[in-house]
Amino acid sequence: MRDKNGEYKKNITKKSVYIFLTFFWYDCHQVEGDKNEMNKTIGKEQQQKPILYVTKIFEFHAAHFLKSHNGKCAQLHGHTYKLEVTCAGHMNENGIVIDFGDVEHYVNMFIIEVLDHTCLNNIKQFEDNPTAEKLAYFIYNTLNEIDIPLKVTEVKVWETPTSYATYKGELM
Ligand SMILES: [Zn+2]
Repeated sequence: MRDKNGEYKKNITKKSVYIFLTFFWYDCHQVEGDKNEMNKTIGKEQQQKPILYVTKIFEFHAAHFLKSHNGKCAQLHGHTYKLEVTCAGHMNENGIVIDFGDVEHYVNMFIIEVLDHTCLNNIKQFEDNPTAEKLAYFIYNTLNEIDIPLKVTEVKVWETPTSYATYKGELM
């Protein structure tokens, strides 16, 4: 049967729509069912565990001057630095990623002891330019290169209460 414009008019009945939708619904649910079956066979151990982040805050005092700076920071001066170290990991059976006391222990031993009450320009890696950015980069790499049970994912170094630099490692 053709309409006025000569186009073919399909003979669609309520029954044929019903049959079509029934099969469509069945197909969709068949796929869902297969997925559920697949997830069961993958097993719990391969499902992704949640990653959590824990942060510990420190303070240290140090002097520095920025040789290449065109301004007041070229003069020797001091800061009370605030340092935030963030570690990542999975929770253990006690709901702990890493003991805050362990983070404190390692950061004190390998960072605070090295930097506190020093002139940062004396540390070779800073190349006479110990900016907050270079400090964050140095601290991140130091903590991740030494053999300690911390997976540090972010380091923030506050030079003043309103200014800080962050290093989060290489972006993937
Ligand atoms: Zn400064």
